[in-house]
Amino acid sequence: MHELSLCGAIADVVTRHAEGREVRTIHITIGQLRQIVPDTLVYCWSLFTEGTALAGSRIDVERVPARLACRACGDRQELGATPVFACAVCAGVDLEVVTGEEFLITSLDLSGA
Ligand SMILES: [Zn+2]
Repeated sequence: MHELSLCGAIADVVTRHAEGREVRTIHITIGQLRQIVPDTLVYCWSLFTEGTALAGSRIDVERVPARLACRACGDRQELGATPVFACAVCAGVDLEVVTGEEFLITSLDLSGA
């Protein structure tokens, strides 16, 4: 499962930054274009961390909407629920993704930090 491998990567980063301190909440920013279901990620995290030093920590997901910029006319638009990869103004298909591909651990809430 995709989310499960992400949990491994998150755990690596978090463990390094926590330096032995107890981790309460991990704040993660995920772009809309990432094929990640936040609920699934949160669920996988609880399974993945069970019995580890990270057990009991929580993932808090912030979703970033996808924004595209048209290279032809410069129009910027937010991607709706149904992705249409064509410019709403000039119907051009030369679109640049401005936001929506993020996958970042933005901050950690640590116990006693
Ligand atoms: Zn356009």
